[in-house]
Amino acid sequence: MTKQEMGILNTAEWNVKQTAGRLGLTDTQLAWVSEPRERVEITCAHALPDREPTHVKVFVVRHNDTLGPSKGGIRMTPTVTLDEITGLAMEMTWKTALVGVPFGGGKSGICYDPASGTDREKEKVIRSFTRGVARHIGPEIYIPAPDMGTNERDMGHIRDCVSYSSGKSITQGCFVTGKPVILGGIVGRREATGKGVVYSIQEACDKLGMDISKSRVAVQGFGNVGSVAAIEIVKHGAKVIAVADHLGGIEKSDGLDVVALAEYQNNNGSVKGFPGGTPMDKDDIMEVDCDILIPAAVASVLTEDNAHKVKAKLIAEGANAPTTPGADEILFEKKISIIPDILCNAGGVFVSYLEYTQETQREQMTLQQVEGRLDERMRETFDMVFKAMKPGDSMRQVAMNIAVGRVMDGMYARGMLP
Ligand code: GLU
Repeated sequence: MTKQEMGILNTAEWNVKQTAGRLGLTDTQLAWVSEPRERVEITCAHALPDREPTHVKVFVVRHNDTLGPSKGGIRMTPTVTLDEITGLAMEMTWKTALVGVPFGGGKSGICYDPASGTDREKEKVIRSFTRGVARHIGPEIYIPAPDMGTNERDMGHIRDCVSYSSGKSITQGCFVTGKPVILGGIVGRREATGKGVVYSIQEACDKLGMDISKSRVAVQGFGNVGSVAAIEIVKHGAKVIAVADHLGGIEKSDGLDVVALAEYQNNNGSVKGFPGGTPMDKDDIMEVDCDILIPAAVASVLTEDNAHKVKAKLIAEGANAPTTPGADEILFEKKISIIPDILCNAGGVFVSYLEYTQETQREQMTLQQVEGRLDERMRETFDMVFKAMKPGDSMRQVAMNIAVGRVMDGMYARGMLP
């Protein structure tokens, strides 16, 4: 097993086992709620323009569909594995249950480096994925969305591939979310995760007695989640004093111009070399002297090796599973508050739910409506978790208790017998 593969699945399994202990679930109940319903590995063969025919491995995991069809994004990286997708699908089950949308958890993966070829080649890979997984996706089965390495353009190709295959102009129901708005996507979906992260930070600051307008923020990862969260939090008066991505880091003690940084990142593929700050070692980002730390990239970045060096008072998990179980314990002992991923980054899937509803009803929502609903749901969910906390509880423990409890309730409400 690779380190990252161990990371995500281990973290997800550890978290649900701890929750089962707190909720007093039997081993059988734990197995019901935590075992994935379906794990599929498919080999897709296709010819890329001007290249030899090739093949890619793709994975689909439907972790749980008690509360509705499985929902979760498509991760495209050259190293993605079935175990990584399983861990992420499990996280989606808890995230959808916690934020209260009628979905279960799922995830898919495509073993391909999106930076290795042209847009045209990526389109071929996406279409080949869509054909390969056709019987595993659908409005009542599993509805994909963007995740690391995929974007709204790719979702547009999936939607086209599905409707083209059935010879119809539109798909029957919502097969994929995060589509371009022109194809029935919803306004504000791309920004939803990053904005949701900041809504939950605002709530946390209010409740923990921190002043967001005076806070110094460090962000790890400057993609769709990190860059939007940075731009949004600066609007509340905070200063983003350090940003790092997989290639490098940049710092400025009186605050980076995050809009210019996002533009620079867009043109150069990294924040490395941004002229409006001082270069820093990307691996030092977790240890920056700041008030709020936002890990918004890959999993397992807060580990037993660096957790004791964290100086932030609040960690907002924009990424999925950025904190390993060992790090979680260290941070808890250090009394650092963590807004757990299943709460903090749930804004994306919540707005995906609005897109699903919009498409099903052939309705259109305005940006104001979408942002209003997102703001309200993130704050309500945060509030629910915070109110349920007793002294000595972490936010992750309480969020997991609620999410796993809801899925269990759903399982019993459906009944155990076929
Ligand atoms: N990939 C996102 C996540 O991890 C969004 C999933 C979705 O919208 O279905 O939450």
